[in-house]
Amino acid sequence: MSSRRDFLKNALIAGAFLPTLALPGQRQRQGRGRALDPSEIPAYRFKTISIDRWPALKADFEKIRTGEGLSRHEKFRGSLAALDFSLPRDFSNPRSVVILATFAKSAVADFSLNGKNHRILIPFQYYGDEWTPDRLKTAIQNEIIKIPDRRLVDISKQVPLKYLAGRSGLGSFGRNNLIYVDGMGSYCLLHAFLTDAELPDEPQGELQLLDACRRCHMCDRICPTDCMSRSRFIIDAGRCISLANENPGEFPNGILPSMHHALMGCLKCQTPCPENSRIPDLTNTLEAVSEENTRKILRGQPDDALLISWRQKLRLFPDVAPSDFFPILKRNLSALIRT
Ligand code: SF4
Ligand code: SF4
Repeated sequence: MSSRRDFLKNALIAGAFLPTLALPGQRQRQGRGRALDPSEIPAYRFKTISIDRWPALKADFEKIRTGEGLSRHEKFRGSLAALDFSLPRDFSNPRSVVILATFAKSAVADFSLNGKNHRILIPFQYYGDEWTPDRLKTAIQNEIIKIPDRRLVDISKQVPLKYLAGRSGLGSFGRNNLIYVDGMGSYCLLHAFLTDAELPDEPQGELQLLDACRRCHMCDRICPTDCMSRSRFIIDAGRCISLANENPGEFPNGILPSMHHALMGCLKCQTPCPENSRIPDLTNTLEAVSEENTRKILRGQPDDALLISWRQKLRLFPDVAPSDFFPILKRNLSALIRT
């Protein structure tokens, strides 16, 4: 399973593909109505793509990547550049790619400072408690491939997951540039696995926009940094809070500490989305953080045990240098607790 679940991969890169959406006529309804019972939420959904389609998908992706309209933000561009559709060189006879969406829950943790409790959100993109890499691989092997001894390699890091999810029909894009999967809304993590098993080549369609977005601007209105524009569908990645609070350094101009509402990332354009309204709140509550440990984080002086414990809690956080991890945590927590 990829550890690069940063917002750039999970959300913003989606914006790169929205210019290709044929807005009138391309519809997919996720379905609103009664809230789903937790037992009705699928653990995962998947689509399979023949490797024969790989060159065409790559060429299409290149056209979009080199086209107009994307943010020039250096970090965003860096993430795009890393997505090159490369396959492992030592993988002989690749036949299919499995694209999966796994349902993902957020978490909250209570921090203490001066005797006061602060409940802090940890969005699902950073906190992964359900699908360990081994569990995911076993499920694909036993429930999707169903042929013993087939090779299976995680290629999530080097492929544009949102794009593949959209082209394979696994999900549809929202105006917030996130992908929505039936029964999960936008609360999902995407994965791609290469296999030498011959799996059904499901028809590739065009990228689709949620039907609901044609008459809704909730995410647009609520975004604190105006990432979205009514005149175009690509969000401005350079303005997104997630981009700022995942990276080290001072917050850029235009992103005020008071705009933060999560330890990492931002869920403001997802929580009120009507297309997520059927998904029940299954947020996990983590062990409370003592006042002593809260202070250690705020001072940016963790001990080894605290460092390890927070790396485990944020195990889907990008692979930043160890020397950057705690300063990021300190800055983000300070913005939440002291403002
Ligand atoms: S909030 Fe509205 S416009 Fe935004 S993604 Fe959801 S349905 Fe679409
Ligand atoms: S609401 Fe938050 S996550 Fe969504 S686009 Fe705006 S800043 Fe980014």
